[in-house]
Formats: sequence, C-alpha cells, structure tokens
Amino acid sequence: MSAPSNPRLDRYTPVDHAKVDFTGGFWESWSETVRKVTVPTQHQRLDEEGFLEVLNFHLPPAPLVRPIQPSGLSMQHFFDSDFGKWIEAASYTLKAHPNPELEAKIDEIVEQLAKGQLADGYLNSWFIRREPEKRWTNLRDLHEMYSMGHLLEGAVAYFEATGKRRFLEVMSRAVDHIIDTFGAEPGKLRGYDAHEEIEIALIKLHRITGDQRHLDLATFFVNERGQQPAYYDEEARRRGKDPRDYIFKDYSYSQAHMPVREQTQVVGHAVRAMYLFSAMADVAAETGDLSLFAACDRLFDNLTGRQLYVTGGLGPAHANEGFTREYDLPNVTAYAETCAAVALAFWGHRMAQIELDGRFTDHVELVLFNGALSGISRDGEHYFYENVLESHGDNRRWKWHYCPCCPTNIARLIASLGSYFYTTKPDELAVHLYGANTAEAVLGDTVVKLSQETRYPWDGDIRLGISPATPKRFALRLRVPGWCGEAKLSVNGAFVPLEVTKGYATIEREWRAGDEVRIGFAMPVERLYANPEVTEDAGRVALKRGPVVYCLEEVDNGFVPQRLRLAPGAAIETAFDPDLLGGAVTLSGGAVKAGDAGWGGALYRNAPSTLEPTRFTAIPYHLWANRQAGGMLVWLLEA
Ligand SMILES: [Zn+2]
Repeated sequence: MSAPSNPRLDRYTPVDHAKVDFTGGFWESWSETVRKVTVPTQHQRLDEEGFLEVLNFHLPPAPLVRPIQPSGLSMQHFFDSDFGKWIEAASYTLKAHPNPELEAKIDEIVEQLAKGQLADGYLNSWFIRREPEKRWTNLRDLHEMYSMGHLLEGAVAYFEATGKRRFLEVMSRAVDHIIDTFGAEPGKLRGYDAHEEIEIALIKLHRITGDQRHLDLATFFVNERGQQPAYYDEEARRRGKDPRDYIFKDYSYSQAHMPVREQTQVVGHAVRAMYLFSAMADVAAETGDLSLFAACDRLFDNLTGRQLYVTGGLGPAHANEGFTREYDLPNVTAYAETCAAVALAFWGHRMAQIELDGRFTDHVELVLFNGALSGISRDGEHYFYENVLESHGDNRRWKWHYCPCCPTNIARLIASLGSYFYTTKPDELAVHLYGANTAEAVLGDTVVKLSQETRYPWDGDIRLGISPATPKRFALRLRVPGWCGEAKLSVNGAFVPLEVTKGYATIEREWRAGDEVRIGFAMPVERLYANPEVTEDAGRVALKRGPVVYCLEEVDNGFVPQRLRLAPGAAIETAFDPDLLGGAVTLSGGAVKAGDAGWGGALYRNAPSTLEPTRFTAIPYHLWANRQAGGMLVWLLEA
C-alpha cells in the first residue's frame, strides 16, 4: 500500500449509510422493502433465469439464455454485471443488518468466481467459458470491463460490509491483469471500455487500498477516452472489420467522440454518460484535476438545463438508449431508463462532495423521489426499465426483464441511500436530504449524533437534533431546496435569518449536546411549465409539491387523464391518504373534461367536445402503475 502522490481536493466525505438509520417515515419503508423483499427475490430471479448458471466454469456452456444480437452482443455477455450489482446491493443491507444466510449466498458466488478465474487474473464468465480467444478484442461492443467493474464494486461493498477479503483479492488480481494489459506504456493496449463503469469501481478500490496504480488506471481510462486515432477503429481493423460498419455509427454513443474535457453537450447512451461523468468527478476529487470538474460542471448544466425530464428521467430515445437533440423530451415514448436516473444520483452526489452547490443535490433529490424511484414497485419486486411520463395503459411493471440492469441498480441506490444524507469536513457538517433518521457523524475527532424528526416529503417541517460528544464549533450547512420559495429556520427556539449561498444556509457556532435546529420549507402545490422549445409539453402543466412530481392515473379518476383540462387558477387541495400504497399526499380539485355528448359514433365533427365539470385526483408519480392498468399523465392539458 502506498500513499497517493497526487493532491486530493479538499472534498466532503459522506457519512456511511450504515451510520444512518431511517426511523419511520418514507425512506425506512422503502429501505426495509429493498432489504426484506427486493434483495432476496432478485437472487431468486438471477437463479431461476439462468444468470448464476454462467458461474459453472467446470461445465461445458449451457445453451444461450439470450441470443446474439446484430451488434455481436448477447445480453448474456454481461450477466456478471447483474450479480455483481446484486452483491453490492445485498452487501449494503448486510452492513447494518447481518444475515448469515445472505452472506452464504454471496460466498458461494465468490467461490465460483475464484475457481473460474484464470491464472493471469482474467475474470469474465462469458469469455472464459465461451470465447476465450476473443477476450480483449472488442471493447467497443462486448462490455468486458463493464462486467468486471460491477464485480469489483460488489467486492468492495462486500469487504466493507463483512471484512471478508476473498472477493476483494480475486478482483484485485483481475485489476492487476487489466493493469498489465492496458495503459500508455509501450506494449500495452491504449483501450478503454465503451460502457464506462470500471473507472468508478477502480476509484472505490483505490480508496480502500491506497494503491496509486488503481487511481492511475482509472485516470488513464478517463483521459484516453475520445483521443485520436480512435481505439475502436484500430480494434475493429484488427478483427478484420470495417470501423464504418459500427451499428451506432459514431462514438458519441459511448462519449468517445472527443476527449472528455472538450465535451459540452451530454450525448449518447444515457447510463454510459452518467457513469463517465461520475468517474470524472471521482478522478477530479482524487487527483485535484479541476479541468475534469469544470467539464462535469458544464455537462451538468447542459443536462439539467436542456435535456432532463421534469421527473429527473433522462435519455429520451429507445434507439440509442440515450440522448437525441436538446429539448427532445417526448412523454409517451420516453425511454428514461431507471439506471440513468439512478446514475444521475451517483453523479450529483459526487459533484456536491467537491463543490457544495444545491444544483447538484436538488437533482439527486429529484431523481430519488421521482424518476429513479418510479423504477421499482411498491411491493419491491416489480420494475420499470423505461419510465414514461404518459401512458395509455399498456405500460406494466415486470417481474424480470430481458436486460435486467435496472432492478439491481435501483436496489443498490436505495440500500445505500443513507450515505446521501450527510457529508462532512473536520469543521463542517452538510445536510443534503431530509427524512426521518438518526445518524452518527465524525467531525475531526468529535462524534456528533444527529436526528431528523419529520414527515418529509409529505410535510416540510424538520426537527434536526445535533449532539456532539463534547461541545464543538463547526459550520452546519443546510440544503434549502431550489423548489422552496419560503423557508424558516430556528436554533434552540430562536429565529435565525436565512441566508442562502448556492442552495445552502450556514449556521456556524459552538454546538452542544441537545441542540435543536428547526427548518420549515413551505410546500405549496407548484405548477410547472416547460420551456417552449419542449414542444411536447406546449399548453401543458405539471404539478409538483416539494420534491414530489405528481401524475393522474385513470384508476383514481374513472376516465383517461388525457381528457382532463385544468384551469390555470384552479384551487388544488392536498390530503394525506394513509391507505394509498403505504400512505402518500394526494392532490385533488375541480377541472373539466372533454365529454362524449353529441358525438354518436362520429370520429370527427366541426365542433369541439363539450367540457363537463369534473374532479381529479393526482398521486405521486413514483407510485404509478401499482394498481390496475390504465392511462397515466404527468403533463396535464391546461384549459
Ligand atoms: Zn437499466
């Protein structure tokens, strides 16, 4: 182990999720569902769907579960990534809730991987069992390092949860092999995986080992991306192929069309982009390279200013699972993959560790309550891959998917969610998210016990308890959400004027055991309108309250919500419905709807429909498609 030689940025350190205990309320319910239902049922699915069969290295390969596609890729090429992500999610739950039975399941997978690993450290079930001669010949299409990256993230999480080193050692040997194979040194390949992921995993490994080589390899992959001559061109020619035959035409699909520091528009496959930018933020944090942070900062503005759904979903198109032109945000056909929204949380969280700015954490919160959470059902075992903003009733959640990348991704996010709440420096404590919890942070050498009592997100009042073990002066930085127009703050009952800088209010004082901060965020129902460039949303309005975006479902309204017209000034009432899918605030009010009167059987006529008075009920978007099938709409027509 060697100390890093590069200067690290003075960044914030997250309080570990195992030190944050949800105590009732919104996130306790979801994290318990993930621990008790999602993690065990996902193992069942992986087993019964043949994903774990690939670990039988001693047997001849079983028939393919997923056929080869025109690109040459089978979804089965990256089955390793799915159980890697499952191990990561399971490990997060293990850290605070030991479970020998679950550990035994992970140990079994680890032993199979260890047995299958080649003498030189190479580890990928597809290539070892099926096409050993083809390893490292097609980084453009075949996800080799992506799969290893997810195994490595799983290994890091499992080590941190249990202290067991076996999986970490197996994956460290795999990384040694990658270091021997790739790099700028003569004789090595100057390649990088087209699906980013290994970079993030290498930084996590580096943070455990302190091994400079792990950081250097991640940095090499980030820096090499998009350099000329294009690696994927040369690689294709070595395979005897014409690079111009590439199915996605150009390398913007993989953010490899130009060097990363020159990129100003978020392009290509959405999950890949989010993983790359997360890695760039990580490398910036570890090396002090602010040019990478500056590129990320520009790209974050481009994404959130021109290419993000109101729900935090991203990547509108099915064809490239990603971005098209700016402001292209169709609702019925929105791709908005769950994984992409999950990964936006990864990226925003990392950005806020480098620069405390509510722009980043507002979007982490946005996806948590909307575009990422919509990817999992309330029962914790059904999923969406695509998160549309309008449905005619044909979008149903599935138990498992042809390409099941999303279930384990949303599981690992929720299972580690505690680590998104607080970050620290020796004399600062930043509070990013609100929700009932108790936590323990360490500032310098002082342990600070924290508690939040709140019904957030259903109500904006938070009682934050702060109890350092000994009196300590530090700056408490409280996120004041960008959606909040009116906030109140008091310390031990005394009103404190609110001054907000980059989305955070600061209270610097000597804190003592038993101190109490009260924060109140007004949560009126907001009407949101889209920029006129977003032609899909012209004449439409979305409803949002606090961090929660709402939608209308046919099941609550008795008619397809596309018929509704909401008057601009119409009063909207809020009420907590304890019986709605675990309890949620619903919105309701008066509106009009296009009626059937006088139409007979006509398809067209020369007079518009009569508008009939009606009432409507809207529910949180993340809860949709948990009851009977029917229409759904986020962007309502205005009368
Ligand atoms: Zn996915």
